[in-house]
Amino acid sequence: MSTQPPSTHHIELCRGARTGQCPHALPVPDELADAIAGAAESSGWPAFLVSACAPRPPRHHEMFRISVAACANGCSRPHIADIGVIFSERPAPPASCSGCGACVEACPDDALELDVAGRPVLDAKACLACGKCVAACPEGSMRVTESGCRFLLGGKLGRRPRLAVELPGFVDPEALPERVAGWLTVYMAGYEPGSRFADVVERIGLHRLLGVVRDKGDPASMAPCARSDAA
Ligand code: SF4
Ligand code: SF4
Ligand code: SF4
Repeated sequence: MSTQPPSTHHIELCRGARTGQCPHALPVPDELADAIAGAAESSGWPAFLVSACAPRPPRHHEMFRISVAACANGCSRPHIADIGVIFSERPAPPASCSGCGACVEACPDDALELDVAGRPVLDAKACLACGKCVAACPEGSMRVTESGCRFLLGGKLGRRPRLAVELPGFVDPEALPERVAGWLTVYMAGYEPGSRFADVVERIGLHRLLGVVRDKGDPASMAPCARSDAA
């Protein structure tokens, strides 16, 4: 009789990321889920969690969850996953165009308006980098200045739900597997029985997270001191 290995991680893709069959989906590499799964396995997480939970198998809520959404609508619920990934495009309004207003109409977040000269002006704080205005522009005047993935950490449901913290900037899709492995390393270094990744993120602290990512861009550089901060 064959026995299934215990589930230690789960990667959920929204329909657009899985099939491309969603009008809102930005392009997602075909092999992304396999690459992330491979990186999670290479990090040592599966054996670590099995060993940490022994003699019982890991429970469902102890699985590490990675959620990938192909647009800001977030149908795969990246804000309540251990790691959330949202494919994104940051727009740049043109210096001049016909001023047709199609981009303003297309924006679900009221992040664009036409100025007195009929030029679109972007409210960068309101913009969720969904790329709809770029797709809506009939002249191709609205450009993409940056594309990549918004990256969120430490969301969870349960008795004390917590929304994930979003790190600044975009992550290159090709770097996602390595990033996931790096954060799993941080989690393993700070792991305590019964703790969730959200607890470790909270313990490290947003200020320090942002500082390390800004200065080094490498989450694994936090691993040696993650647990000692809990004291
Ligand atoms: S997150 Fe966006 S791309 Fe993915 S299924 Fe939902 S609407 Fe479509
Ligand atoms: S990228 Fe999306 S949220 Fe940002 S201005 Fe364009 S339509 Fe609005
Ligand atoms: S949709 Fe394109 S042409 Fe129309 S106002 Fe926006 S940027 Fe200008």
